[in-house]
Amino acid sequence: MKNTKIQYDKLDSVELYEDKLHEECGVFGITSPGADNLAKNVYFGLHGLQHRGQESAGIASNMYGNINYHKDMGLVQEVFNDDIIRALRGDICIGHVRYSTAGGGGAINSQPLVVYSKKGSLALAHNGNLTNAQMLRDELEENGYIFQTTIDTETIAALVARYLKDGTVEDAIHSALNRIEGAYALVITTANKLIGVRDPNGLRPLCLGRLTDGKGYVLSSESCTFPLQGAEFVRDIEPGEMVIIQDNEVSSRMFHPGEPKRVCSFEYVYFARTDSRIDGRSVYASRIRAGEILAKEDDVKADLVIAVPDSGTAAAIGYSHGSGVPFGEGLVKNRYVGRTFIQPTQEMRELSVKMKLNVLEENVKGKSIVVIDDSVVRGTTSGKIVKMLKDAGAAEIHMRISSPPVKHSCYMGIDTPDRSNLMAANHSIDEMCKMMGADTLRFLSVEGLKESIGFGDDICTACFTGDYPVKLTDVKNKLINHEAERSFVGEYD
Ligand code: SF4
Repeated sequence: MKNTKIQYDKLDSVELYEDKLHEECGVFGITSPGADNLAKNVYFGLHGLQHRGQESAGIASNMYGNINYHKDMGLVQEVFNDDIIRALRGDICIGHVRYSTAGGGGAINSQPLVVYSKKGSLALAHNGNLTNAQMLRDELEENGYIFQTTIDTETIAALVARYLKDGTVEDAIHSALNRIEGAYALVITTANKLIGVRDPNGLRPLCLGRLTDGKGYVLSSESCTFPLQGAEFVRDIEPGEMVIIQDNEVSSRMFHPGEPKRVCSFEYVYFARTDSRIDGRSVYASRIRAGEILAKEDDVKADLVIAVPDSGTAAAIGYSHGSGVPFGEGLVKNRYVGRTFIQPTQEMRELSVKMKLNVLEENVKGKSIVVIDDSVVRGTTSGKIVKMLKDAGAAEIHMRISSPPVKHSCYMGIDTPDRSNLMAANHSIDEMCKMMGADTLRFLSVEGLKESIGFGDDICTACFTGDYPVKLTDVKNKLINHEAERSFVGEYD
C-alpha cells in the first residue's frame, strides 16, 4: 500500500479537471456535393464535440483535390475566426479536437494530418490509440520514412501513403487497417470521397447522419452534433466497417470480421454527452439506469441524494428513483470556470474546488446525504467535496460512484494516470473511504455497469477489470516507456 495520505491542500486547480479519465479526441466530417464552404458546419460540429478534447482543434477541406487546412492549439472558438473559416472552401470537410496524451502535445501533433502523394492527397483525423504503433513506426523508420509528429495517427497516414501506390484509396486504407491494432475512429477526406472507419471492436464511437435536405452526409464521434447540422441520425458505423461517401451515395466494406464487439463503457459513464446515443443506447438512459442499479445494490438510510454536477446528475436522479430517497441540489457548479491561467499559489490551491463548486448549505445542513459521482480516478476531488459538505454542516456523507473502481490503465485512446496514481489500484475501498473522509463509500458493480448499458459482454471494461479486448503489442514488446505501462508489462509476458 502506498500514498496512504493525500494532501488535499497541496493540489492545484488543474487537478480538479484532471481527476477524471479523459477522452483523447473527437472527429467530425461532412460532404455535400456542390457546397462551397462546409468548414462552418465542421466548426459547429467540433464545438459540439469540444468536451472530447480541449487542447487543439483543426479543420481540413478539399477543393477539387487540393487540401487546405488550419489547426492550432486552443479551443475551437480560439483557433478559428470568420476569415479562416471562409478560406477553407470545398465540398468535403473534416475536423478534429484533441486532448493530448499519446504522442504528447504541441501544435505539431494537432490534426487533421495531411498526406501528399502522387496518387492524390488526403487528410485524416483520428480518435483512439493504436497498441502496436511503436512497432510499426520502428518498421517504417527502418524503411526510410521520416516522421514529422510523435502521434500514432501518423503511423496510419504513413501506411496509407505506402499502400496508395498499389490501388484505390479504399484499398490502401484497408491494407493499412490490416496492419494496425487498437482503437480508432477515423474520418478521411480524399479528392472526392468522405470516408469513415471504426475499429474492429467498436471501441471508439462513430455515427452517420444525413442532412435533412437530402444533399449530404455527416460523420461524427457523437450524435449530439447532428441537430445543429440539420442532420438526422442514420446509424452507427459498425465495428470493423469502412463507409465511403461519394456523390451523395454511401457504400460500405467490412474488415477484420469476427472480432468481438467491445464498446467503451466509459463513454456511457462519463465521456459522451448525455444527449448522445451510442450504438443505439441513450447515454442519458444508461446513466439513469446505473443510478437505479446502484440504489438496488445499496442499503444506506439517507435524507437526500445529491449529484456532483454535471456528470453525476443523471445517475443521482436514477439513484433517487431506485431508492425512494429524494433528489435535491447540494452542490452548485460555476459553469464559467473554464481553464485558468492563474499561477497555482497556495491561496489558489485552497480555493480550487470552491472555484468550481459551492455548497447549498440550507439543503445539506444536519442531513445524511448520498453524494453521487460518476467515477473516482485519483480520488483527490472526492475528498475535497466531502470536506466542503461536512464544513457546511452535513451530518453524514455516503459517497456512491456510478461506475466500478478504476484500477487499470486504458491503452485504447483514453488518458489514464499512471497506475500508481489510480486510487483504487492502490487502496481497498475501506482505505479510500477513510482517505476521502466519507462515512461510507460504494461503487457500482461491473455486472451493474453491464446491465445499465444493456449490451451484455459487448462492452470494454478493461479499466475496471484488466480484461483487455485488444492485443497490447507495444506493451508486451516493452516499446512503451511509461510508468503505467511498465507496471503492467509483467501481466502480459
Ligand atoms: S479501458 Fe475500455 S472501458 Fe476503460 S476507458 Fe479504455 S476503452 Fe473505455
